[in-house]
Amino acid sequence: MKIHKNIFWVPVFAILCIARLNSQVNQPSNQAQLSASDGLMNCGHILDGPAYYLKQLENKSLDNMLKITKEEKKQIGEVSYAQVHKKEKIITEFQNKRDILQTFANLKKAANGLVHFKLHVIDSEDINAFTMIGGHIYLTTGLLTYVDSMDELAFILGHEIGHHEKFHLERKIKKIMAASAFFGTAGIEDFTKIAVDLNNKFSAPFDQINEYEADAYGFELAKKTGYDINRFTDFFKRLEKTEKRSMLIKLNSTHPFSSDRRKCLENHIAN
Ligand SMILES: [Zn+2]
Repeated sequence: MKIHKNIFWVPVFAILCIARLNSQVNQPSNQAQLSASDGLMNCGHILDGPAYYLKQLENKSLDNMLKITKEEKKQIGEVSYAQVHKKEKIITEFQNKRDILQTFANLKKAANGLVHFKLHVIDSEDINAFTMIGGHIYLTTGLLTYVDSMDELAFILGHEIGHHEKFHLERKIKKIMAASAFFGTAGIEDFTKIAVDLNNKFSAPFDQINEYEADAYGFELAKKTGYDINRFTDFFKRLEKTEKRSMLIKLNSTHPFSSDRRKCLENHIAN
């Protein structure tokens, strides 16, 4: 696969993990109570159940249909990395640096070790974390200020590592490659348009399933590393206070609601 240097690759090949905070007023939830057996299949809305099964089917098809070589992944990773560094202000000095790097090192050591993970901090007030193929994990200073404990941060970093260990980024690229082949795109402009559409619209409910899966992985990894599982939900508890719930937002968002992610984590804690 030929790799082109185009700015649109950044959102396409990154998995953004925390929706930006907004000032909308929270709406009461009509969420059904979770039972212990719901697990990953229905951690949020009732529609997450069917979406989970469809996601498994999609994963299987993509894995059978397409292979991405190590070299291709490396090329995509290098292009994406260069673009983020061009666009964002990366800083090497930040508050609690020692503790943050130690937490990251602890988690890396406990992960499978198939990917070489690297942590970067972006100087931005946005509360965000994202990861890109090639093992690059980005946290904003806004997020670092927002977290209250290394336990919370360990869960967030574990979540990002989970996107790699569960092949989410790799399958995202395969999906875009498949769509490009299906639509018979000739040029990079068409290819990029499809890729952005896929990323922003059609993959939204499926991306929510990936978020739950990365949460489950992050939970287990941070727990295994010795962090306090009872603190992992703190982050979502604060976020959900500012989140507006509606079916329209749910269907168009790549992220589950914070309250659903929190309830799902509570389910993991209870089990
Ligand atoms: Zn995520």
